[in-house]
Amino acid sequence: VPAEYLDRRVGAARERLAASEVDAHLVLHPPNIAWLTGFRGTSAALILTSRWLYFITDFRYSRAVDCLAAAGQLPSNTKVFVAERSYEEAIVSALREPGAARVGIEADHLPVRRFQWFQNVLGTSVELVPLPPLIERLRAIKDAVEQQIYREAAARLAGVAAQLPRWARLGRLEREVAADIDYALKGAGFERPAFETIVASGPNSAYPHSRPTERALTAGDPVVLDFGGVYGGYCVDLTRTAVVRSASDAFARMADAVLEAQQAAIARVRPGVRASAVDAAARDVLAAHGLGEAFGHATGHGLGLEVHEHPRIGRPTMDGEDPLLEAGMVFTIEPGAYVAGLGGVRIEDDVLVGPAGADVLTDIPRGLLMLGA
Ligand code: ZN
Ligand code: ZN
Repeated sequence: VPAEYLDRRVGAARERLAASEVDAHLVLHPPNIAWLTGFRGTSAALILTSRWLYFITDFRYSRAVDCLAAAGQLPSNTKVFVAERSYEEAIVSALREPGAARVGIEADHLPVRRFQWFQNVLGTSVELVPLPPLIERLRAIKDAVEQQIYREAAARLAGVAAQLPRWARLGRLEREVAADIDYALKGAGFERPAFETIVASGPNSAYPHSRPTERALTAGDPVVLDFGGVYGGYCVDLTRTAVVRSASDAFARMADAVLEAQQAAIARVRPGVRASAVDAAARDVLAAHGLGEAFGHATGHGLGLEVHEHPRIGRPTMDGEDPLLEAGMVFTIEPGAYVAGLGGVRIEDDVLVGPAGADVLTDIPRGLLMLGA
């Protein structure tokens, strides 16, 4: 990631810190570290102050960090510390350098035991301040570098989806089809699947999170195929629903209703709209078709360095959180309907919020796929 983009991300994080009235922020969540620095190793810690970015890593990664530094691909004013004994001790000595009195921590990511250790060692002169997910909220808005990755990743994922009828055929096992999809993801340039591929046939399709089994695809089966990949560090995610040979009228009507719900939700996307309004657009269509009870999950989720991130496209949360959509956000729109005895339908695409509305990144037909022998 070019340093100018990293500097902009770090600058945005600093503004949020100033608003939270802390002198420093300890960042431990790897996707937050990756977004701020471009470093994608599994262990590191950051301390962000108004002036410096302390980058703490260990000997396994110090070479990778040196390479980033030499290539001019670290944010400005970064000081690299190599943890000699433990991350905790290195973090404490780095925190003492700027003499921070109020240190923000990621409330969602610092385990209680580690929190208590820091508190004991730092003593009463340092106050640890639990912060809401500040960096996660910034990550929700993709910059030009990320949007470029998204267009490429989504085109590659659509290319994999186009081949589904080759793999999902009468008599093949769910597990075999899932393995074909995973293999094709690698072949299409993805680093790895973004989550465990779902191939749910017949009665299994009525469960949104069914795992692939030894069940063979049978004539008349609905089949939900949900898969995604990680490309350039970023997750894409897509679902199509198929039927083997033929669908019952009742199932075909349900599939039409889900597609209508998805289109209504996509049409509602634009900057300034609440996430819950997009969710409601899908939910209202399904309710009008008598499928309100059959849709038991949120309409979508943010995508990025993690497969589920901000913004969540659903009803307002317990804490009343209901994000306003902003240009540059990337998330899924994936309504579904699940009825025991009839099966399940889910249709999922990835959208980028543009200035005037949704830009659907995963461009491939959405209707029921017909599978043959
Ligand atoms: Zn999915
Ligand atoms: Zn999804």
